[in-house]
Amino acid sequence: MNNFDVVVIGAGPGGYECASLLAKQGKNVAIIEKNQNQIGGTCLNEGCVPAKHYLESATYITKKSYFESCGVHVDNMSLDINTLRNKKDDLIEQLRTGINIKLKKAKVTTIFGTASFENENSIRVNDAIISADKFVIASGSKHRPHPLLEIDGKQIISSREVFTLNKIPSSILIVGGGAIGCEFATFFNSLGVKVDIAEFTPQIIPAEDVDVAKALQRELQKKGINITVEANVSSFTKNENCINITMQTKKGEINADYELVLVSIGRAPNTNELRLEKANINSDRGFITVSQELLTSNPNIYAIGDTIATPALAHSAYNEASIVANNINGSTCKPSKVIPFVTFCQPQVASVGKNEKMLKAEGIEYEAIKHFYKSSAKAKIKGDDSGFIKLLCEKNSGIILGGVMIGNDTTEHIHQILIAINTKLTKKQLSQMVFAHPTLSESLWEMVH
Ligand code: FAD
Repeated sequence: MNNFDVVVIGAGPGGYECASLLAKQGKNVAIIEKNQNQIGGTCLNEGCVPAKHYLESATYITKKSYFESCGVHVDNMSLDINTLRNKKDDLIEQLRTGINIKLKKAKVTTIFGTASFENENSIRVNDAIISADKFVIASGSKHRPHPLLEIDGKQIISSREVFTLNKIPSSILIVGGGAIGCEFATFFNSLGVKVDIAEFTPQIIPAEDVDVAKALQRELQKKGINITVEANVSSFTKNENCINITMQTKKGEINADYELVLVSIGRAPNTNELRLEKANINSDRGFITVSQELLTSNPNIYAIGDTIATPALAHSAYNEASIVANNINGSTCKPSKVIPFVTFCQPQVASVGKNEKMLKAEGIEYEAIKHFYKSSAKAKIKGDDSGFIKLLCEKNSGIILGGVMIGNDTTEHIHQILIAINTKLTKKQLSQMVFAHPTLSESLWEMVH
């Protein structure tokens, strides 16, 4: 039987980060990964990295008409999905090599196979039993199934199959208007595909500020994306060439044909194969229950990333990985509450810190300052002056508590508000700083000065 100080289950961002940190601190660490070619997890192989790579390439096509109006002519601009897919595979391979080197340098033992608990201090992987003083569960998440629309990989797909498409469809229905749904809506719309979004709740990007969600809906509709909120797919029929969808909406029943349906209604934790009960680990609807220090109901087992009910984001998993690495070494750290949320559609949406709903619920008096990119020289130069910034400050002190942005590159600019919140910056202090001109960043200064 192999024995380690720590065994980490899952080699996604949470798992590989935690394993390499612990090994660098001198622990004898093993990482267990279910799939031979899945080092890097959902994020690298079928999530953040390929999705943003596809979107970045499609962005050039959407910018074509603006730059043509400036005299830049690029004839026959198009996107070859097979070349893009191959390039994406190269990129993933390069990044995976980097992670493997990181694990090797730290002297982490990598074992391939599906882990499941045998008892409180050992797991089974293939035919081997592996024991450890501590375990970290970082087994991530998978596509959340739709009650009707079962993935067939041909006409009904999840985000995973988008990255294996070898043909661009003529039309697509995206079921679920969250971050992933809106990103793929932008991607397919850029390629000239007829895109419809059906969202179950009253707003797209349901976790975000209402004003921003409405602004995004308007911008996506301007591009020709058809959005129906409070929509519920009630039945479908398939034939060789298309899939016919019926959905119930507030305005009545809608029926339409699509070449492809993408189901993106969220993620479900990957915990069913772990046999959690054998190690006395409690869970709630699949999510592992943890203390503020990320300890499970078993005092020697921690859980991080998409397996717990914190934001399902790669950077949240990285943060939790470092918290657990410290806690295994005797600290009592808690994960950060200031986590940026990012949606890479066009225009981009990003938020951080408290939102208006939270401030109202907590009874905190606040001032909301709104500033539109219409007045930004840089936004106009870049050919897209849509969107705005909303900054939320404590009423009396002016301390910046939160913010949300919609517009050009806001997934980058949100970090200015992140730093402001973490350093308890006031709007007055911000107004006294000098920002470079012409930049998108100066909008943050302009709105408070
Ligand atoms: P994962 O990355 O899911 O890794 C878990 C690993 O554990 C997998 O490799 C899996 O094979 C392995 N595993 C599972 N069960 C077992 C077992 N029993 N034994 C051994 N191994 C096991 N997040 C962002 O922050 N920014 C983005 O832009 C973004 N875009 C996304 C786009 C898409 C399309 C998707 C699907 C997700 C996106 N995410 C994004 C979310 C992000 O990918 C996840 O939050 C992140 O990957 C979670 O990391 P993790 O380490 O918890 O788990």
